[in-house]
Formats: sequence, structure tokens, C-alpha cells
Amino acid sequence: PRRPAYRPGFGSLNSGGKIPLGLKRKGLRIVVTGGAGFVGSHLVDRLIARGDSVIVVDNFFTGNKDNVMHHFRNPRFELIRHDVVEPLLLEVDQIYHLACPASPTNVVGTLNMLGLAKRVGARFLLTSTSEVYGDPLQHPQVETYWGNVNPIGVRSCYDEGKRTAETLAMDYHRGAGVEVRIARIFNTYGPRMCIDDGRVVSNFVAQALRKEPLTVYGDGKQTRSFQFVSDLVEGLMRLMEGEHVGPFNLGNPGEFTMLELAQVVQETIDPNARIEFRPNTEDDPHKRKPDITKAKDLLGWEPKVPLRKGLPMMVSDFRQRIFGDHKDNGA
Ligand code: NAD
Ligand code: UDP
Ligand code: UDP
Repeated sequence: PRRPAYRPGFGSLNSGGKIPLGLKRKGLRIVVTGGAGFVGSHLVDRLIARGDSVIVVDNFFTGNKDNVMHHFRNPRFELIRHDVVEPLLLEVDQIYHLACPASPTNVVGTLNMLGLAKRVGARFLLTSTSEVYGDPLQHPQVETYWGNVNPIGVRSCYDEGKRTAETLAMDYHRGAGVEVRIARIFNTYGPRMCIDDGRVVSNFVAQALRKEPLTVYGDGKQTRSFQFVSDLVEGLMRLMEGEHVGPFNLGNPGEFTMLELAQVVQETIDPNARIEFRPNTEDDPHKRKPDITKAKDLLGWEPKVPLRKGLPMMVSDFRQRIFGDHKDNGA
């Protein structure tokens, strides 16, 4: 049985968490799914610091309690161990939906969180991905590009899952009037990033610190554009608070080949780090770089931290987590 539409007057429900101009801002109730993860935990820090009440919903699939432990004594913070594949009843103003393993549960979890947003009149932000562009035939990628995804490839579970999540968000927006926001996030790095999830920046940094060779896949000439996590979080918050549905590319247009990235890691950590070539994975996108004109124009957002500034901040966090005997929350 569904509960009736949420009562007006609670917080700023039914206004999608929007603050009427001129009114003093009251703390919002905000859910962050995946809030114990890398991006989510940094977002939670900002929301708590701003005075909001935050409920983190996480099943700790890839996330970690250590990332949010510093909020445990704060009465405005709650942590719920929950898999978003299961329905969830909460009363909130805004939902940042970050929970996502690379699998079809992505779709079910998104459906549930959209159902929740519809029921309580909350605004819903989806963290989609640059992977919706697949192996792009347009460069740099603009939001109007529909992408080039292999539907039966090894990466397609994640790519198509996010594409379906975007479709669901737009259907709930058009069909049920849910206020949605869609971010297409490009490769992001920073403190608290999972050390062993196989992504290129975390691999290179961990390898250089452990005096292991940096594993470059393929010829290393493929490109990515790397964004520091604080820039992303600022973009997500502007998107949530703004008036535009999106989708918006959120990424740093600074484009690097994997060999150039390896070189920056050498300069930052160990000039003598060796490079080892490995076969590349199937369907690896050849290049990726965001066109962020839309986010600049409509959100007044652009990244501030270049790779050479951001990487050292990640390195000191990784150093502590790999070698230190005490846990650090990367704040
Ligand atoms: P992450 O793995 O650190 O965070 C994801 C969090 O979601 C983890 O804490 C995990 O435990 C939780 N989670 C996973 N499945 C869940 C489930 N079924 N129920 C509840 N919690 C669940 O990853 P991240 O890098 O912080 O990414 C956050 C979001 O941003 C994801 O949606 C991801 O697809 C998107 N994104 C990230 C990047 C990037 O470069 N980091 C790029 C594009 C898109
Ligand atoms: N849902 C949820 N929390 C809520 C409201 C809905 O988890 O507060 C789930 C619900 O269980 C369903 C999904 O969201 O699986 C979609 O809900 P909706 O009401 O849009 O669709 P319906 O259930 O009517 O098909
Ligand atoms: N890559 C690499 N060495 C590694 C891990 C990844 O050269 O140890 C390459 C990978 O082939 C891809 C790029 O780095 O071309 C980015 O990979 P990642 O998994 O970090 O991000 P995504 O492919 O999802 O953009």
C-alpha cells in the first residue's frame, strides 16, 4: 500500500527542496545513497557543514564506514545499512542518488529512489556517467551527443544501466512531475578513493607508492580527463540547487593520455617508477573529454583544481592508508 502524497509544510517538501528567495534557509533533510563511498562521503561533508540533516543509505558494497565515521556523533547525521534494490520509506527534501555497483541493480535501485522522490515530493539527483557516451565518435562530448555504446560488450552492464537510469529519471520527471537533476560525471579522483578497484589513477598512485611498476593498458595513448573530487561535489550541489534538469557534463576538460598520466604520477611520487605495458580491456573508449559549456553557462560552474594540484592531495591520503597505522578520513 502506498502512502498518500506527502503533507505540505514539512521542511520545504513539495517545492523540491527549493529555497524561496529572501527566506532564511532552514536545514534540509537530504538522503545521499552511496554516501559512504568516495564521492558520496565528500558530498556529505559539504552538506553537513552547510547545516543540513543527512541520511546516508549504503550497503557498504564498495563504500566504507571509515569515510563517514567523523560524523557519527553529529545528531544531524544518520547512517542506514540498506541495499537500494529494496524499497525504502523516508521523509526527505532532496535525494542525491549515488549508490551504484556496475550491474543491473543500478536500475532497480534508481527506480526505488525515484518512487521515493515521487511519494514525498523530493528533488532527485542522478549521478550518471560519461560512460553513456561509450566509445565516442564526437570529441569533446557535448550533452546532446547520444553516444556509441556496445549493448552486449563487457562494459555494457554499467553503461546501459546508467543510460536506463537516465531514461527512468526523465520518465518520472515527465510522467509524475518529479523534479530531477542529471549529472554526467567524468573520471574523478581524490582522497578516499577505493585503493583496489582497478581504476587508473588509484592503480598508478598505489603502484608508485608500493614501488611496483605502473601498469599501462594498451599503447597508453587513449585519453581521459581527470576531475578532482571537490570540484565534482561543488558541481553536484549547484545542480541540485539550480533550476535546470540537465543532463550536465561535470568533468575537468584537461585531457591526458595514460602515458602522460603515468608521467605526472612519476613526477609526483617517484621519478624512477617503471612503466609496464599490459593488454587493454575490450571496448575501451579511445578518448574522453567533456564539453562543459552548458554547466558553465547555466550553473556558473567550472573545475578549479588541475591534475598536478589535485594529485598530491590524493597521494598523501593514499600514503596514510597504505602505510599509516591509523585510519584517516581524508578530510
Ligand atoms: P563508490 O563505489 O566509492 O561509491 C558508491 C557507494 O554506493 C558505495 O559506498 C557503495 O557501498 C554504495 N552502494 C553500491 N551499491 C549499493 C546498493 N545497492 N545499495 C546501497 N548502497 C550501495 O563510487 P564513487 O566513485 O563514489 O561513485 C559515486 C557515483 O558517481 C556512482 O553512481 C558512480 O557511478 C558515479 N560516477 C563516478 C565516477 C568516478 O570517477 N568516481 C565517474 C562517473 C560516475
Ligand atoms: N518506493 C520506495 N520508497 C517509497 C516509494 C516507492 O522504495 O517511498 C519504491 C516502490 O517499492 C517501487 C518503486 O519505488 O518499487 C517505484 O515506485 P512507484 O510508486 O513509482 O511505482 P509503482 O510501485 O506504483 O509501480
Ligand atoms: N588503465 C590503465 N592502467 C590501469 C588501469 C586502467 O592504463 O592500471 C586505462 C584503461 O585501459 C582506460 C583508462 O586507463 O583506458 C581509464 O580507466 P578507468 O578504469 O580508470 O576509467 P574508465 O575506463 O571507466 O574511464
